[in-house]
Amino acid sequence: MIRYRDDRRTLLWAFGFFPIVGLAPYVEPRLIPWLLPVSLYFGFCAGVFSHNHNHCPTFKGRRMNAFYSAWLSLFYGFPTFGWIPTHNLNHHKYVNKAGDATITWRYSQKNTWLVASTYFFVSVYWQAAPLKEYFAKAKVSNPAIVRGMNLQWAALVGGQASMLALGWAMHGWRLGTIVWLFGFAVPAAFASWSMIFINYIQHVHCDPWSEHNHSRNFVSPLGNWLVFNNGLHTVHHEAAGLHWSKLPEAHAKIAHLIHPDLNQQSIFGFCLRAYLLGAFNERYRTRQVGRAPFDPPNGVELKLETAAVSAVEAGVNASMA
Ligand SMILES: [Zn+2]
Repeated sequence: MIRYRDDRRTLLWAFGFFPIVGLAPYVEPRLIPWLLPVSLYFGFCAGVFSHNHNHCPTFKGRRMNAFYSAWLSLFYGFPTFGWIPTHNLNHHKYVNKAGDATITWRYSQKNTWLVASTYFFVSVYWQAAPLKEYFAKAKVSNPAIVRGMNLQWAALVGGQASMLALGWAMHGWRLGTIVWLFGFAVPAAFASWSMIFINYIQHVHCDPWSEHNHSRNFVSPLGNWLVFNNGLHTVHHEAAGLHWSKLPEAHAKIAHLIHPDLNQQSIFGFCLRAYLLGAFNERYRTRQVGRAPFDPPNGVELKLETAAVSAVEAGVNASMA
């Protein structure tokens, strides 16, 4: 049923650990503090899987892929179609240059904790219009897409509401709300937040005009095992349809061509240096590598919003094809 053998582990996480870890606080609410890091990790994975699945469908069959998208929406905290207009078609095309709805430099060219931690709201705000437009256009011209979107909304809202009701039935409204929050709501919110945060740190101060320095990588093998190779972002941009299991091999071929600052060991080490130490001493912060995204080599004037809209139209056409 699956296209790549390595996705057996993906499915073990998605259909095994996601619900088990989500339901564990229902069985034993005292586990909540101990489970929190684990459930945030699985929330992060839900984001990673929805990203991977949109680029490279997990199953051979269409129905299974649609079902899996709906299942992931519950754990991702947003319908997974949300990746298509603003990520697949827009971000992958413009790579943090003008026209990308998710540019890291919209209000500040610095990379401080204040900018990084508030980027979620900036990114979500600017993704809203192309998302709405994508949805509106699909409604007019592509009922199949709309059915998929509705299924994902139903899984998200219905699934979260059912889990809240289950919490109330088992523990009353007060403790029931708490077990739902920590079992399903917080991990799902973290899934969405962390994907947007990761998009920020993988592009801020990179050089989108360069062949290989357009993205920042986190190369630790253990870290990449845990996050299904999503630390390897340069090769992901250079071959977006490449299955996650093939990324280490592709990265190894070009690693020496990437600026050393853009091959970081781990996300935690990077954040500690750039944001914690960087708060006290500027020399720990990141610096622009090569040419900045807002400094086009041909000197053309920057237009930030036009491209997003046209990418949405391309999105609907591409999906219909
Ligand atoms: Zn991507």
